[in-house]
Amino acid sequence: EAALSVPDKKVDSVCPYCGVGCQLTYNVKDNKILYVEGRDGPANHGRLCVKGRYGFDYAHHPHRLTKPLIRREGMPKTGDFKMDPDRVMDVFREATWEEALEVAGGKLARIRDTFGKRSLAGFGSAKGSNEEAYLFQKLVRTGFGSNNVDHCTRLCHASSVAALLEGIGSGAVSNPVMDVTLADVVIVIGANPTVNHPVAATWIKNAIKHGTKLVVCDPRKSDLARSAHRYLQFKPDTDVALLNAMMHVIVSEGLVDADFISSRTIGYAELEQNVAGYSPELMAPICGIDADTIRYVARLYATSKASMILWGMGISQHIHGTDNARCLIALALMTGQIGRPGTGLHPLRGQNNVQGASDAGLIPMMFPDYQRVDNPAAHAKFEKAWGMKLDDKPGLTVVEIMDAILRREVRGMYIMGENPAMSDPDANHARESLAALDHLVVQDIFLTETCYLADVILPASAFPEKTGSFTNTDRLVQIGRQAINPPGDAKQDLWIIQQMAHKLGLDWQYGHVSEVFDEMRHTMPSIGGITWERLEREHAVTYPCAVEGDPGQSVVFTETFPRESGRARFVPADIIPANERPDAEYPMVLITGRQLEHWHTGSMTRRATVLDAIEPDPVALVHPLDLSAMGGKPGDVITIESRRGTVTLYARADDSSPRGAIFVPFCYYEAAINKLTNAALDPYGKIPEFKYCAIRVALGGTV
Ligand code: SF4
Repeated sequence: EAALSVPDKKVDSVCPYCGVGCQLTYNVKDNKILYVEGRDGPANHGRLCVKGRYGFDYAHHPHRLTKPLIRREGMPKTGDFKMDPDRVMDVFREATWEEALEVAGGKLARIRDTFGKRSLAGFGSAKGSNEEAYLFQKLVRTGFGSNNVDHCTRLCHASSVAALLEGIGSGAVSNPVMDVTLADVVIVIGANPTVNHPVAATWIKNAIKHGTKLVVCDPRKSDLARSAHRYLQFKPDTDVALLNAMMHVIVSEGLVDADFISSRTIGYAELEQNVAGYSPELMAPICGIDADTIRYVARLYATSKASMILWGMGISQHIHGTDNARCLIALALMTGQIGRPGTGLHPLRGQNNVQGASDAGLIPMMFPDYQRVDNPAAHAKFEKAWGMKLDDKPGLTVVEIMDAILRREVRGMYIMGENPAMSDPDANHARESLAALDHLVVQDIFLTETCYLADVILPASAFPEKTGSFTNTDRLVQIGRQAINPPGDAKQDLWIIQQMAHKLGLDWQYGHVSEVFDEMRHTMPSIGGITWERLEREHAVTYPCAVEGDPGQSVVFTETFPRESGRARFVPADIIPANERPDAEYPMVLITGRQLEHWHTGSMTRRATVLDAIEPDPVALVHPLDLSAMGGKPGDVITIESRRGTVTLYARADDSSPRGAIFVPFCYYEAAINKLTNAALDPYGKIPEFKYCAIRVALGGTV
């Protein structure tokens, strides 16, 4: 019916979901989105996946928060609950914006003044715009007075970024996804693009049709594996064994690019020495891939004219995630497969703006553009730019903040557009921490699980209700344009952040979003040449773009690496086992991730009519033989338990998971799987081990 209506306006924007950054057009009538069409953007050329095409009507859902809410006096903060919007007015009361902001910001200011600047922390959002991310981190750094600011990049690619910054001096991709069409060989490892970056997967499939050889390496047999030239189903948690064995072959067979190594890198001798102990024969029983296949794939990658590596959370979400990424970087460097079209390293970014939010400084150790807070020159630069004294000590990361709350070191938080009660590892612990705060302010569009633990809830704007810039996985800065107005008294996020800033003593007077962007580009050399007018005109500009008129570089590292020496650095890695291995009590392995129709904690897509109709219930993907071994059948209810928590959900027979491993998406509040996950951290990226923990499974329970 909606599709048959005639829109009264069309608004060009981008998709609010994944990092591919598809451009789309909202077709709007009477402040309602009727339907969405793809348009000819650099990343999608008209294509959209099911989320981009059908995941829009969450914005009109009756659950939208339309008034500021304040927790009623004496209402306990429970750490475990079923999301029930009908209960909301038992727990909260409506308030005016004036009162809500006074309580929200006023109490944070009092905590800061009583307990010190590091007693506050903030989580920004990878769903918000670059301008929102920039203002949010600026608020924490100048209004709270510390660097205790982070966001969900900590939970996805923090380890990849740590390895990339260390090895090649830049945390972003070297080549756009579309370069797969120029590659002879593409390795996709620890990623499931068909589900998580669906339009990117279509470009990979197109490349295969034109002769590109695809190698998929993953413990789970993804849909893309069916199109692969070779599929390597290595054992969970054995990435370093497999990758070091490949490097061993490349070294021992003389397939390295000696010129590239000598002219563009440092540290090769240590790497060579390290991989000498990782022969394919030794590693085959560990990783589960036979030595001949390891040799074949290593030769294929090293000797092709152009080889590219794309990876995802399967690489990064381990306590050895940084080591995993170090191995991928070393593979590219030793073979010279970087710095040209169709080569390079591409960590597939998850959220639509996780790249931009990280670039904008929504991380505790970096000012905007990855300028370290403890670097005296960067510190002086931002003190001058923002006109006040700044903390030069790196702040706490997502999981560290949760622990600091229970130690009473962090007492107040401001969370914008993130849902740590669902997305953090060991979610029962995270909920306990959030409930223990003296004061929690949450800014969101729905009553998320995190909102249940808030003292003040500020109703914000959905993606199509505001204008801002967003940076996709390819380093493309694009404009998302306002198509509809927020409902009721909900406000745009930039306005809310500014009001909070006023309560914390900052005199901010940003008018149009372009004023924020303009300030950003003057503190961030990578986007220095991008003007708002140009974004308006061209819709998308790639960075690095140092000066106005610069076309922007889609392929980087062509001549040099952005490290002090100009050279990339090899960093060897050794095998480190998962923090929690299966044992007699908990004999199986839990792997968490996403599914095609739902996005992250589900707050948007589970309220999108079509998407919810396709995947309405919480499911666990269980190997059919494991399911029948426990006496079950598809559709049966199972209960999964780890040392940290229990969930009950429906079993779906799925032979993509290896035997002994169960895959569960983290989007279902009824079965919040992060109650089970392990908060053990990678020491460099501080990313938790979402991809591996020990569980036991039994038939039965109540969903
Ligand atoms: Fe949106 Fe990603 Fe799908 Fe494109 S591929 S439509 S950006 S979810």
